[in-house]
Amino acid sequence: RSFGAAAAEKELESPVKAPVEVKHTKLLINGEFVDSVSGKTFATYDPRSEELIAHVAEGDAKDIDLAVKAARKAFDEGPWPKMTAYERVKILNRYADLLEKHNDELGALDSIDSGKPYDQARYAEMPQVVRNFRYFAGWADKIHGHTIPSDSAHFAYTLHEPVGVCGQIIPWNFPLVMYAWKVAPALACGNTIVLKTAEQTPLSALLAGALALEAGIPPGVLNIVSGYGETAGAALSSHMDVDKVAFTGSTEVGKKIMVAAAQSNLKKVTLELGGKSPFIICDGADVDQAVELSHFALFFNQGQCCCAGSRTFVHENVYDEYLEKAKERALKRIVGDPFRSGVEQGPQVDKEQFNKVLSYIESGKEQGARLITGGTRLGSKGFYIKPTVFADVQDHHTIFNEEIFGPVQAVTKFSSTQEVIKRANRTEYGLAAGIFSKNIDEINTLSRGLRAGTVWVNTYDIFDASIPFGGYKQSGIGREKGIYALENYTQVKAVVMPLHNPAWL
Ligand code: NAD
Repeated sequence: RSFGAAAAEKELESPVKAPVEVKHTKLLINGEFVDSVSGKTFATYDPRSEELIAHVAEGDAKDIDLAVKAARKAFDEGPWPKMTAYERVKILNRYADLLEKHNDELGALDSIDSGKPYDQARYAEMPQVVRNFRYFAGWADKIHGHTIPSDSAHFAYTLHEPVGVCGQIIPWNFPLVMYAWKVAPALACGNTIVLKTAEQTPLSALLAGALALEAGIPPGVLNIVSGYGETAGAALSSHMDVDKVAFTGSTEVGKKIMVAAAQSNLKKVTLELGGKSPFIICDGADVDQAVELSHFALFFNQGQCCCAGSRTFVHENVYDEYLEKAKERALKRIVGDPFRSGVEQGPQVDKEQFNKVLSYIESGKEQGARLITGGTRLGSKGFYIKPTVFADVQDHHTIFNEEIFGPVQAVTKFSSTQEVIKRANRTEYGLAAGIFSKNIDEINTLSRGLRAGTVWVNTYDIFDASIPFGGYKQSGIGREKGIYALENYTQVKAVVMPLHNPAWL
């Protein structure tokens, strides 16, 4: 099937029945599923049909406050931060087992709520979720400080203690993966949490929260509040009793969170923000492989990745061949109902994002980029957009500078390594970069020259739990995953005491 086929359009008219039931729609506060204080709910929609999936309790400042109180009590009184680290290891491993057991159900909730292909959710993302919990469970009993020689007559050592109550605000593009990146290290380090999900995708985290209770994570340790950014999110980032806030989403909102943190109690902040990542195809590259990888780098997850390779730089010697083949590949991309097997691309997450992507496509045309395929919606129902490729994009074009967050590839030509480093770095972002080359010297020059938190060489979107991820410049502050994530969720206490009559110093 190809996106252009009349058959594909017809298929879109009758969405497949999603293989999942929505069991949880209330807020998880202090170990119980409760209505919001206001009694309000909000609707979450299926982006395939634009129809209602469920009404979900809508948390606001009052619910955030209750959740923070529960998290504070669970932190101050325990048992979570006070139990032995090995107890936490066992509970987190049990939790990972339960997430694994509910792999398909959780994947289906993310798929119906966000439009991502079900097979991607259950075979690529859910295993990553489980892996994150196992990885950080492994760290939980290996977090410790140092002994320090200090000056002549003092014994000093450090304790790496949990930060306290952590506010975590996550986006809609990878709901459960973002949940895992935030929740797993925070729990491993002994913190308690108030998590706010994105208003577009509240469902999967609530089931994951129910499983956390089943695994034995005590009440109040993990609280989950569904709701909007301006209300619940803002209340969390400005709350006086939250010790740290971790956020993933747009750079614009990241700045608001930092201001809120500074103006309230100077809570610690980590941010994972937007990107406009270059994907660089060098002279001598195997063009077929370059096309496949750069296509994946941009179109994966409907183009809704913070690290999407959204500026494709192609060396002039392979440019024409690349364009021809990139167009062919985009035309072959299978767009359709995310619950049908073999589908590579589902609908965009919601109407707002759908309209935003279409308006970027218009701006590309108006500013003179050459549209070589796609450029319109697909079908008449649901938020489907045809895989779109622009050629001859220039550095000043809006589609080359702003985060589109959709299936729109912007291709440009370059001539030399120094030129491409300069142009690739000419952005306020610095999240990721891709290099496709057979030349080790060129790879070394590029990977050191590019100002980005991750450089993928002859691969893309590799996200193992052990590998840190985060941004240079306005793409963020701090690193998630890997050993680096432990720093986000611990603080260092120095303990100093006199040494009387030591046998040695
Ligand atoms: P967003 O930044 O507005 O939302 C992300 C999260 O922040 C959501 O949970 C939202 O409710 C919350 N939020 C919004 N305003 C807030 C506030 N004032 N205080 C506290 N929390 C707040 O992202 P979006 O509107 O969903 O998407 C807009 C753009 O952001 C996208 O088009 C894309 O460019 C970018 N984005 C980036 C990522 C990423 O992974 N870096 C993810 C999603 C979106």
